[in-house]
Amino acid sequence: MSQNELNKTSVLIVGAGPAGLAAAITLKNKQPEAEICVIDKAAEAGNHNLSGAILEPDCLSTLLDTINKDWKESEQAQDVLAYKVTKDNLLFLASKNFHFSIAFSIKIAKKFNLNFGQMSYEGNYIVSISKLTKWLCQTAKEMGIEVIHGFAAEDIIYDAENGVATGVKLVDQGLDKEGNKQPNYTEGEIINADMIILAEGCDGLLTEKFIEKAGLVRQANQLYSVGVKEVIRVSDAQFKKFTAGRVVHAMGYPIWTPVLGPGMFGGGVLMPVSENHIWVGMIVGLDWKYCDFSPQDALTNFKNQRFVRKFIEGGTIVEAGAKMIPEGGYYALPRNPATSGIGKGNVLILGDGAGFVNMLKIKGLHNAIKSGIAAGRAIAECENNPAATVSKYTELLNTLGVMREMKDAAKFRQTVAKLGPLIGMPISVFGDKLPLFKVEKDYLVMTSKKYKYKPGKSYDKDTFTALAATEHREEQPSHLTIINRNTCAQECREKYDSPCITFCPAGVYEMIAGQVKPANPSNCLHCKTCQRKCPLDNIRWTVPEGGGGPRYKTV
Ligand code: SF4
Repeated sequence: MSQNELNKTSVLIVGAGPAGLAAAITLKNKQPEAEICVIDKAAEAGNHNLSGAILEPDCLSTLLDTINKDWKESEQAQDVLAYKVTKDNLLFLASKNFHFSIAFSIKIAKKFNLNFGQMSYEGNYIVSISKLTKWLCQTAKEMGIEVIHGFAAEDIIYDAENGVATGVKLVDQGLDKEGNKQPNYTEGEIINADMIILAEGCDGLLTEKFIEKAGLVRQANQLYSVGVKEVIRVSDAQFKKFTAGRVVHAMGYPIWTPVLGPGMFGGGVLMPVSENHIWVGMIVGLDWKYCDFSPQDALTNFKNQRFVRKFIEGGTIVEAGAKMIPEGGYYALPRNPATSGIGKGNVLILGDGAGFVNMLKIKGLHNAIKSGIAAGRAIAECENNPAATVSKYTELLNTLGVMREMKDAAKFRQTVAKLGPLIGMPISVFGDKLPLFKVEKDYLVMTSKKYKYKPGKSYDKDTFTALAATEHREEQPSHLTIINRNTCAQECREKYDSPCITFCPAGVYEMIAGQVKPANPSNCLHCKTCQRKCPLDNIRWTVPEGGGGPRYKTV
């Protein structure tokens, strides 16, 4: 379908990830006549959905049982849910060579009913979100839902008189780098809709614009982390030694060490992807202080740690990618101050876009799917009454357990951000009894300090980008804007040595003739780290033409 063939629908969902598709599937199941359109900026289903994630499977039963009670038998379900967690390792890496298990702390926490007990994954599934999204997309299409890829949305359109959202404007196609119209120019269509669901994922462009325009309020700043991941093909012997069904979460080295070490929040992960393939990832809170830090340097160190190295040494990296995760939790949810609703008028916010990630579990996928189910049910139950729909949606988030989980982990990330991992992690067991520490936005905490475990060799970002298979039309205007070039050239360079050049996982930024420039926008992985970590808040990420960006398959 071309942009011009579609200009009106009843329910428009922006983002065909697990949350958006769950909303579409739930609504269509309850109202087969519902007119639903899901648009997504990726070229194909799952292309922009990165993560080897741990999934609590109940949400899939809630979503799919009434559509097909035998869904678990389908080939795609079997593929997506191939690895059940049977071995759950929680380690502390004290140094490059020394580690010990801290699984006992989870057992103690469970025994005394402390919130840390949630950090346990046995019985969950290890899934590729990219594969899961493909499967849900096919399910949605088979139900008659219009799911269109390659449609990038740049703005919400509002009625000038009453301020109600009336639709979404797509990105213009066919401009050259200077913004001149080329022969293939197509103006971005406006898709009108009665109800708009924002399911764009972390730090969504329309979502953030809507939060500001609608006056939604976050009680605490949203905090982010960035995850960098590789899929590594390993030998039969290594995979056997690792064992299918094993999940490793590792805290400590190389991002925080007890004595004089870096004190960053996050950790490394190892999980199986498929036969002889292992995900290796590093997730780091964006509130790092070190101006020369790159998450990929931490990934390199993690891969060289003795415990990790034995499983992947000599392996071949076959896929790679990066994405941000919203970590602020319960108090960072954007709410209507008058009603507490997660949305306003005829607009709902779902999944990572709202921030439904439980950092005690390091999981948000089940909450994203449940938020989609809540949105679909709310629209079906409150037909033609948008205000009631937003309240119902927020009420169903409670009923489905999303809010309970968010409350359980409510002050965890702020506590760790304020006190550092060494003190903040153990103290956070006091949960709700702690004060809500006020924490600055991530970019404000950058300093001129240097990361002490900088590897000797630069990370190969060109190969990383190639393995993410990212592509954009080279001739389009850059979707990355440096707001004030002087701030970059003078203040940032002097104080912080232009950190975007180092931390951007795709090597998009370069110093050219004394100026930092987004020299390679076509390499961009859409992770949005630069927008949230530029220490002077001087970078803006907008949506490029539809169909551009990474093409993740399993990572
Ligand atoms: Fe991520 Fe920004 Fe680099 Fe793109 S340019 S890959 S959004 S940090």
